[in-house]
Amino acid sequence: MNGEAEWIRSMSGTEASTAPDVEKTGRCLCGAVQFKAHIGKLEIGTCHCVMCRRWAAGPFLGVDTSRPIEITSGEASLGVYRSSDWGERGFCRDCGASLFWRTQDGSHAVISVGALDSDEGLVFKTEVFIDQKPPYYEFADDTEKMTGAELFALFTGDATND
Ligand SMILES: [Zn+2]
Ligand SMILES: [Zn+2]
Repeated sequence: MNGEAEWIRSMSGTEASTAPDVEKTGRCLCGAVQFKAHIGKLEIGTCHCVMCRRWAAGPFLGVDTSRPIEITSGEASLGVYRSSDWGERGFCRDCGASLFWRTQDGSHAVISVGALDSDEGLVFKTEVFIDQKPPYYEFADDTEKMTGAELFALFTGDATND
């Protein structure tokens, strides 16, 4: 199963949020790329899928954004890798930092929580693709865990199909 499809489904927020956006800034390791993001829900989700781990050097811990990411500095240093037919991953060409995953139209993005300047108010909430988590680590936090199949069922409304 393709991790990216499920990631979109998990994070695209089918319910309309009335919570006000929180604006957060972030940057890559060397500081060349800087951005601004609008966070709708102050929740951290992690994805254990093989693609995310290959890209982020570990499970990808991300924060969902309610609006397209605004690159405020270093557009020329921003590399964008198309990792599937619909998704792409942003990174810094200078220092290699993994910055965000987003749909290719930019309408939906998940920012690497480690790239944010402030993690104030954020809580660790979900773990997806738990079935692709390798055995050598495990988070002790009390999170909502879903396999890729469970995630898929949740968003297709067909929980009985296993
Ligand atoms: Zn950099
Ligand atoms: Zn993933």
